[in-house]
Amino acid sequence: MSSLKVYSLKWILKSKKALEELISRFLIVKSQRKSLISNYVSRIESLNKKINFFLEQAEILGEEGKIDESENLLKEIEKMKLQRTELSTMSENPFLQMEKQMRVCEICGAMQSMSDTEKRLTTHLEGKLHTGISVL
Ligand SMILES: [Zn+2]
Repeated sequence: MSSLKVYSLKWILKSKKALEELISRFLIVKSQRKSLISNYVSRIESLNKKINFFLEQAEILGEEGKIDESENLLKEIEKMKLQRTELSTMSENPFLQMEKQMRVCEICGAMQSMSDTEKRLTTHLEGKLHTGISVL
């Protein structure tokens, strides 16, 4: 066992209340993540339906010789496809959008600035909250 883990365990045993708080925070972060992901997934699904519908319409317009209208729809479809790509990136990393400049630690839920220095990030990784949760 590393000295870091021994230190963390001692700290956890010291305060049962703190441990309970950590667990509830951890669970909140987990459920937030889950609901954010399902939100993105349902938005992607409805975007897919729209894209398919627009594609059909563009095809029909094309067959009717309404080339301009058909091309306009295709442009809209391209925009929606870009949106869909963005959404699927977000669904892989749901906390990305919440705060573009901030990052939420996936282990302890603490907010970190993207511009944090290496030293600050290391300090966080060795911090009580983070190490406390990571040994759970
Ligand atoms: Zn952390």
